[in-house]
Amino acid sequence: MAPPGAGKGTQATKIVELTGKPQVSTGDMLRSALSEGTELGVEAKAFMESGKLVPDEVIIGLIRERLKQPDASNGVLFDGFPRTILQAEALEEITKVSTVISIEVPDDEIVNRIIGRRMDPVTGDIFHVTFNPAPEEIQDRLVQRKDDTEETVRSRLDAYHKQTKPLGNWYGERGLLISIDGTGSILEVGALVTSAVNTV
Ligand code: ADP
Ligand code: ADP
Repeated sequence: MAPPGAGKGTQATKIVELTGKPQVSTGDMLRSALSEGTELGVEAKAFMESGKLVPDEVIIGLIRERLKQPDASNGVLFDGFPRTILQAEALEEITKVSTVISIEVPDDEIVNRIIGRRMDPVTGDIFHVTFNPAPEEIQDRLVQRKDDTEETVRSRLDAYHKQTKPLGNWYGERGLLISIDGTGSILEVGALVTSAVNTV
């Protein structure tokens, strides 16, 4: 868990390499549904574009289906899920959570990271105009997420503070939370993530 744009997707790649477990990103799943124009995409669109959370029952249904896939049988890395206590309670009924890594980044830095984020639609790789520039030869094909605007960031941060942040305590009380400082460079945060994963 982490605020929007803190580096969940960036560091998830590292954890997938370390553990071999597939990444289950509710944000990526919702964006695919949106671009394919499925019923789920239609339902989620307005919430995502305004920076609000998609309703819990929709997300829980999505996770339930995803965990039935064969590649999920030995565990997965959740990215951007759970995001509410209700989602965490539902997850407890479905499977056991071994560890929660929380990447801590202050709001001011979040805005810089989100405004400069660019995605490669071909590989799904995440770049940043300043902090992690893409190679020259793929610059022309990079896209910016529709919700990565200064205005939407505010409502996403608001949702994070009100609905997701309390989950930190919730997992802390259960002895599952590892908090790491996310303000360093991608490599520095990667080193902290690696040592957190190695303690599991
Ligand atoms: P999230 O999945 O939490 O929304 P991302 O992994 O997509 O976040 O990262 C958001 C943006 O910040 C991207 O442009 C990414 O390149 C950049 N970024 C990620 N980690 C760092 C870091 N430690 N320092 C600077 N920029 C970072
Ligand atoms: P970020 O962490 O950069 O905000 P995500 O890709 O994780 O981005 O999520 C993008 C949007 O998708 C969120 O703003 C929200 O509308 C929706 N979303 C993703 N995951 C969840 C979730 N677990 N619960 C509710 N809404 C979600």
